[in-house]
Amino acid sequence: AKEQGKNNYQMFTPEMKVMAFHRLILENSMRKALERNEFSLVYQPIVNSNNLQITGVEALLRWRHPEMGDVSPADFIPLAEETGMIVPIGEWVLRTASAQNKAWQDAGYPPIRMSVNLSARQFLQPNVNRNLVKTVKEALETTGLEAKWLVLEMTESIMQNYDNTIETLRQLQEIGVRISIDDFGTGYSSLSYLKRLPIDALKIDQSFVRDLTTDPDHAAIARAIIAMAHSLKLKVTAEGVETEGQAHYLRDLKCDKMQGYLFSKPLTASEFESLLRAGK
Ligand code: C2E
Ligand code: CA
Ligand code: CA
Ligand code: CA
Repeated sequence: AKEQGKNNYQMFTPEMKVMAFHRLILENSMRKALERNEFSLVYQPIVNSNNLQITGVEALLRWRHPEMGDVSPADFIPLAEETGMIVPIGEWVLRTASAQNKAWQDAGYPPIRMSVNLSARQFLQPNVNRNLVKTVKEALETTGLEAKWLVLEMTESIMQNYDNTIETLRQLQEIGVRISIDDFGTGYSSLSYLKRLPIDALKIDQSFVRDLTTDPDHAAIARAIIAMAHSLKLKVTAEGVETEGQAHYLRDLKCDKMQGYLFSKPLTASEFESLLRAGK
């Protein structure tokens, strides 16, 4: 046992200590971030491929730490998932995004759909009093937003817990919110399994969009995904659209909606409202 302990100690390299320390700091500050109002949302437009009008918007989480500055979602969301912090943070995101969409509707802008990202962890329901369906219902009730204006984006990883997830998705659809599978093409979905899912839309992962005009394989995948989705009556959004070339190609493939820096980067609520005002 002593030998083993020694080995374990040696395996814990200085780099790992630094990483663990960094993690601990991040984890502790994340716990305080909600009450300190350090989280915010930015909003990226989603446009109709045919007329390029804004038809929706995706809420993306941002964290500004007083000393560390902006922390990337790529760094803190995995940690929030591991620690379970994503549950209260996710509730905040749902409420804030729903309230924002309702506020834009009340201000008289043409109604658009608000997409919110969900982690697989939010589907695990350890507590019957605090589950995802209830959280979504509460967000809609407290903000007054109609369910049809809320889209829940989730990756294929939610399928790890298949039976529970299907039941939860059904209940969400019953409320009237839309379900969209994010980063599609990167997971393990097969056509037959997709057919059994109660979902409304797919988002083609940006890795396929990036090489659309240069890599025939990726173009073929994008084409196949769109055709398959349409045969299942699902709407398709392409994300990460950065060039006119990609946009033209996607329109030729009959991709329904597009999102990416070509149209707009994620914006603050007031920047986004200026866009809405310009389109009115
Ligand atoms: P995602 O849901 O796939 O979001 C798309 C990401 O691509 C966003 O990064 C967005 O800013 C970025 N993006 C948008 N247009 C372009 C483009 O034209 N080119 C390129 N290269 N990138 C573009 P972001 O905001 O850093 O978010 C990263 C990921 O963090 C998201 O990926 C999502 O998985 C996660 N995330 C963000 N907000 C939330 C949240 O509220 N809850 C959960 N659970 N996850 C979130
Ligand atoms: Ca997303
Ligand atoms: Ca995505
Ligand atoms: Ca992603």
